[in-house]
Amino acid sequence: MIKFSVRDVASKGLEINQIVPKEGIGLSDEEIDLRSPITINVGIKRVDNHIIAHTKVSADHGYMCSRCLEDFHEVRRNEYYFDFEVNPEVEYIDLGEEIRQEMILADPARILCKSDCKGICPGCGANLNKEKCKCK
Ligand SMILES: [Zn+2]
Ligand SMILES: [Zn+2]
Repeated sequence: MIKFSVRDVASKGLEINQIVPKEGIGLSDEEIDLRSPITINVGIKRVDNHIIAHTKVSADHGYMCSRCLEDFHEVRRNEYYFDFEVNPEVEYIDLGEEIRQEMILADPARILCKSDCKGICPGCGANLNKEKCKCK
């Protein structure tokens, strides 16, 4: 949970720095392959009747290259702005679910291990990043 009290924001803004495991914001292995905890930094301020949460998220993501099918990982950083209208009945805001949804949306379905990945030879199946084609 990345939870804060709306009242705490009112006076001078608020900053949250947390490192949470993916379970901490309800992410499952099926949804996203993370190889590290998630580093979350949030700057929260109140603008008129709104709470704005500028959220920076980084984590080590695991992927399978869609060209050579090799497993690889890379640290990805994303920034999100969340905007909540102040509601006198809502005392706390939990950003965990918001972050969970944004991370799933931002996670690419197709990704290459490197931009010039040479892929796999359709003839002999060699990973052309690592070995030579054995076809004639
Ligand atoms: Zn590749
Ligand atoms: Zn080949």
